Amino acid sequence: MYLKKMEIVGFKSFADRTKVEFDQGVTAIVGPNGSGKSNIVEALRWVLGEQSAKSLRGGKMPDVIFSGTEKRHAMNYAQVTAYFDNADHYLASSKDNEDVIISRQLYRNGDAEFRLNGKKCRLRDIHDLFLDTGLGRDSLSIISQGRIEAVFNSKAEDRRAIFEEAAGVLKFKSRRNETESKLSTTQDNLDRLEDILYELK
Ligand code: ATP
Repeated sequence: MYLKKMEIVGFKSFADRTKVEFDQGVTAIVGPNGSGKSNIVEALRWVLGEQSAKSLRGGKMPDVIFSGTEKRHAMNYAQVTAYFDNADHYLASSKDNEDVIISRQLYRNGDAEFRLNGKKCRLRDIHDLFLDTGLGRDSLSIISQGRIEAVFNSKAEDRRAIFEEAAGVLKFKSRRNETESKLSTTQDNLDRLEDILYELK
């Protein structure tokens, strides 16, 4: 599996529809300061489901939408589409597709949607698809400026989470947490039921 293309429109400095193609192997993006190199990486993090506007260097999520320049009006929406070559079927939930295409769109009024291979989906579907593949929104495949220092300076348990993601156990851990929380809700309901039954006796 590898990222072969991204299409960006209305995201940060990319007002015009912009296609970025990647070959297998190493790709370096060069350009003057402020020309949008980091914005390309942030577009990828965003389409993978990044939920923190702060980690995309914004105050709130609509800040990712092109905000206009002296010569050009602001835009009303941002859209990023990422194309993955999945000929090796590394991404599990798309066995029939050679390509996996994910896209995310956000309007200024807050309307938003994710799509997986053209069909509307939940953020969770995107999250699950990439969990433990090494390319999730929280994975270490994408390391922004300053993050390396943050990893070195992080607490032991945070660093452990990094190893867990790398070892592929994070998926099971997050499922266990979900199950535990469901069990606890069910136990609460049972307790309430017992109280009612006791009162009825
Ligand atoms: P450097 O080499 O200095 O790290 P860079 O090439 O990585 O720079 P970016 O940080 O990707 O550049 O891009 C910064 C540019 O993006 C700035 O000019 C900024 O004004 C522009 N920008 C960021 N958000 C928006 C937005 N919502 N609308 C329009 N332009 C934006």
